[in-house]
Formats: sequence, structure tokens, C-alpha cells
Amino acid sequence: MPTATSSKHDIVVVGAGIVGSALAYSLGKSGRKVALLERDFDEPDRIVGELLQPGGVRALSKMGIVDTLDDIDAVPVEGYHVFYGPRSVPIPYPQEKSDDAGRGIASSSGKVEGRSFHHGKFVQSLRKKALAQKNVTPYEATVRDLIKDTAGKVVGISATWKKAPEGEAEAFELRAPLTIVADGCFSKFRRTHGSSIQPMVRSNFVGLELEDAPLPAPHHGHVVLSKNGPVLLYQIGTHSTRILIDVAGEKLPSVAKGDLQKHVNENVIPQLPEQLRECVAREMAKGQRLRSMPNSFLPPSMQGQSDQAQGVIVVGDAMNMRHPLTGGGMTVGLWDAVHLTEALGGSEWAPLSAAGLRTPLDLNNWSAIRPALRSWHWSRKGLASVINILAQALYSLFGADDANLEVLREGCFKYFEMGGECVNGPVSLLSGLAPRPMLLVGHFFAVALYSIWALFMHPKWYESEQRSRKPGVLEYPGLVWRSVMVFYTACVVLLPVVFTEMKSNIPRLTAATSTRKGKGSHGGFVTDNFALVSASLLLIGTVMLWGNTRDPATARTLSSWMVFPKVAAQPI
Ligand SMILES: Cc1cc2nc3c(=O)[nH]c(=O)nc-3n(C[C@H](O)[C@H](O)[C@H](O)COP(=O)(O)OP(=O)(O)OC[C@H]3O[C@@H](n4cnc5c(N)ncnc54)[C@H](O)[C@@H]3O)c2cc1C
Repeated sequence: MPTATSSKHDIVVVGAGIVGSALAYSLGKSGRKVALLERDFDEPDRIVGELLQPGGVRALSKMGIVDTLDDIDAVPVEGYHVFYGPRSVPIPYPQEKSDDAGRGIASSSGKVEGRSFHHGKFVQSLRKKALAQKNVTPYEATVRDLIKDTAGKVVGISATWKKAPEGEAEAFELRAPLTIVADGCFSKFRRTHGSSIQPMVRSNFVGLELEDAPLPAPHHGHVVLSKNGPVLLYQIGTHSTRILIDVAGEKLPSVAKGDLQKHVNENVIPQLPEQLRECVAREMAKGQRLRSMPNSFLPPSMQGQSDQAQGVIVVGDAMNMRHPLTGGGMTVGLWDAVHLTEALGGSEWAPLSAAGLRTPLDLNNWSAIRPALRSWHWSRKGLASVINILAQALYSLFGADDANLEVLREGCFKYFEMGGECVNGPVSLLSGLAPRPMLLVGHFFAVALYSIWALFMHPKWYESEQRSRKPGVLEYPGLVWRSVMVFYTACVVLLPVVFTEMKSNIPRLTAATSTRKGKGSHGGFVTDNFALVSASLLLIGTVMLWGNTRDPATARTLSSWMVFPKVAAQPI
């Protein structure tokens, strides 16, 4: 390891996880001298970041490091399979088109593929790539603080070595024109640039590793819609499968008292597909440690605003998180690395500018960096919004026990069962291949309307009559009321998340509400102005949906202009 005084750096990156490592690699390749600080370079053992969507594979490909997926026992992922009681429906990724060649990874299934793996193996592979860059210097040390000058500009970091080099002090400082914070979901420095928004935790994922699990649909992510919340299963190696069980609430039942184990054994295992129950029960009986991670939501914040701290940029989970149900975090983070490298320019390499290099920004000149950060915000917006909104909305739909949500869940499942565009559209959003927020809003309301239609037209089970039949006309008044509540519930599920995305596009609103409300302010504004916000978004949504059926092109332009100004769909 180098000593702290031996090198001059353009950029200090805090954290060599998924995003920090990828970013250090791409910035180093673009000609910047990068210091990469990580508290522990040993292989991490975590239950996060184990399924990379095809969109994320494409980001690796853009950076020229898709080979980080080689030799890590990664398993091809060809889509999803959703289980709902005794029924199940396949949700395959889109078929590979001829112009997809070279944009992702070699596919043997004919579909655009993702990969799943042990998180630690992939992180090590990314770190190896970063550290092989001549411009990247590693420091195995914990960053304790960001150093600011008298004007409040961040000018470097102070850190303590994991193991100090011979003759050196435990603590050291590094100075650089730019510091990039990529210290993950428990970030210590996420508020440095001026945002006061804190993550919200609605549930935890509890994870187990299964040996040779007999998955009903190999090479697919499995989503089980249980009554207690969703359960995910996917292979993370030739013989290993991850199961992630969602447990609602910020706090988990006690492991010491055996409450969590009891919950898994009694409430979760019986709802899994039959062929998996024994395997999971066996692992529980062995007493395998139940590991957990909070599932957080942190809306993004636009950086490069005039009232924000200078000299620092926040990326990855430190800046933006969503529920991991849809496995989109790494995809968003890797594309952030691509777009940010592009925005900062480089003398040797630019991942997106096929025509050539962009002029490197002078990192000492914050007035030049500020607009570049705002343009980064817009270039990440399409994909990040889709993945954030989809994850939060689907979790609300699948996570809670409520009669109206039950109607939407049933409708959503039936929507998938119709196949065709009802599967292709949603899966291209989920896989990170279609960064089109309006497509998401369109499918969401289509699910809501289809759920209502199914309420009237599809047979349902009548316990008292012990048979299934279509509802009679006399039941219609009750169903009309139920429909209103279902549509209202759909709006309540979707619109607040859409609003958090829109809010991050409006600098003054973000800054003003942040200072006024302090901690967790994103909940405050939505709640205070919920009626107004819902009414306007409902109006926009209705116009859009109505227009979509008549003139899709105009509807898209109109609604994009109204709801997501400046968001151009980035082809990826
Ligand atoms: C339960 C769960 C499951 C998930 N599953 C998926 C999935 O299947 N697919 C997907 O795409 N996403 C998934 N995600 C999200 C994904 O894991 C994250 O989006 C991704 O890891 C974010 O990368 P990052 O680099 O921002 O943070 P991390 O990968 O967490 O990296 C942060 C790094 O910073 C280091 N660090 C922290 N503080 C300091 C410090 N002070 N000094 C030095 N180093 C420091 C840490 O050691 C770590 O190496 C999941 C998340 C959760 C919670």
C-alpha cells in the first residue's frame, strides 16, 4: 500500500463497493488520478446485490468490464417466475435482437440475460479491475471525516489505516479537488452535500443460503407472493441458492427468543412452492444463522445546486435507494458510474461518447462542475426513476395485507397471465432495459383498470355457496364502491413515489422543504399537500392514459413534458 503523502490525486473515492469500484475504474480509465479508500478489501460476505439485471450488465459492457462476471460462478438469469398460491406465471426477459449483440453478455438462451452470483465474488472482481488501472491507488482505511476549508468546501478526507504501513501513524489525510462518497446504505457522509433526507425503512429482508435447492424454474428469479410479504429465491452459484424473506416493519422479531425462526417456520415455509419447503425447512433445522438487512427507500437528490457543499459528490446507495424486491440497485449504481464519468469528462476515455472524448472538466473549478452534476442528474433520471418507482410501487402492492391491495395483486397476476405486451412492457422496465417512466405509469394504471374489470367479469370463489361464479347484477353497487377504493388505493401506492421523483427535479422545492422540515422531510411535504398533489397527478395520469389509447406519441410527449420534464429516454 502507498503512503498517504506519496501520491497526488484528482479524486478521492470513499468506499470500494459496487459503485465505488466501478467508478474508480472508469474515472481512472478516463485519465483521472483516483485514490480508492475501502475499510476492508477482503471479500465481503453479505446478502445484498446478488442478481444483476440485464440493464446492469449493459452498464458493465459500456465500461468495457463485462468480463468481471467471468470466473465468479455466476449463473445466467433469463427472467422471473411469479408464484401466487397454487398458480405461477413466467416473466421472461425480452428476446435478444440482432442490434443487441455486444451490448450485454453472450446469451445462450436467446434472451437478453442478467447474472446472479455471490455478492462478495462480484465485488472482488470489480475491485480487481479498478486496482489494475494504473491511475487508481488503493488505501485500506476507514474514512473518519471529510476535511473542509474555511469556506466549507470539501478538500479531502481524514482516515485511519486498517494496518498502518511501517513507520506511519494510524491516521492520515488525503487532499484532492473532488471527493466522491460511495459508502453504501449505512452512509456516514450522505448528508454532506446538503441534503437532509434520511432513508425510510419499511421492512427487512431475512436471508438464508440453500444448498442444491430444487428451484421450479432454474435460471429465473422466483418471486413468491405470500400473505406475509414477498419472498425471493435465485441461484447465486452452481450449488447455492439465496432465499430472501421480507418481514414487514422496521424492527425484526427477536432471533434470541426464537420469534423470527418461528415466523419463518410457521408462516413462510408453508406458503412456498411445495418442492422448496423441505429444503428450506432442512436449512432452518440445521440452525443456519438468519441474516438480515433493512430495505430502505431514499429518494435521489439533485446535486450541483448553488446552496450545496462544494467539492463533494454522493453516489450509489449513499444517495439513492429503493426496495430490493426488483433487484435494481446495482443497475442504477453502475449506470450512475457511466453517466458521472461522462459528465466529468476525461482526457483518455469517455464511455458514452462514441465520437470521441469530452473536454475534461477542471476539478478545481466548482462553477464548471455544478452544471455537469445537474446534467448527470438528468441523464440518470429516466432509468433511476423507473427502477425506484417500480420497486416501491410493487412492494406496496405485494407487501401488505389489505382488501383493495388484494384486488390489485390478483389483477396484476392476471395481467401477467395475459402475456404479450402485458409481460414484455413490465419486464423491460424491471430489467433496466426501458428507462421510460411513462411506460411504467401506463402499465401501472392498466393493471389498476384491469383489476377493476376482473372484479366484475371474472368468476370468484363464494365460500357460502362452495362454488365459483361471476358476480350477479345485485352485487354491482358494492363492486362499484370497491372499484373506487381500488383505484384510489392504486393512486395512493403510485403517486407519492412519483412525487418524490419529481420533487428531486425541482431544486428550490427540495432545498426549501429540506431546511424547513429537517429529518425525513420527503414524507412531510407529500403528506401536507397530499390532496393537491394527488389531484394534479391523477389528472395528468388520466389525460395520459386516455391519450395513450388514441395517440400514444402525443400522449408520451405531453406527459413526459408535464411529469418528467427534460427526461429523454436514454437508449441503453
Ligand atoms: C437485502 C438487499 C438485497 C439486495 N439485492 C440486490 C440485487 O439482487 N440486485 C441489485 O442490483 N441490488 C440489490 N440490492 C441493492 C445493492 O446491494 C446496492 O444498491 C449496491 O450494493 C450499492 O452499491 P454501493 O457501492 O453504493 O454500496 P456498497 O456496495 O454497500 O459499498 C459501500 C462500500 O463502502 C465501504 N465503506 C463504508 N463506509 C466506509 C468508510 N467510512 N471508509 C471506507 N470505506 C467505507 C464499505 O465497506 C463498502 O465496501 C440489495 C439491497 C439489499 C438491502
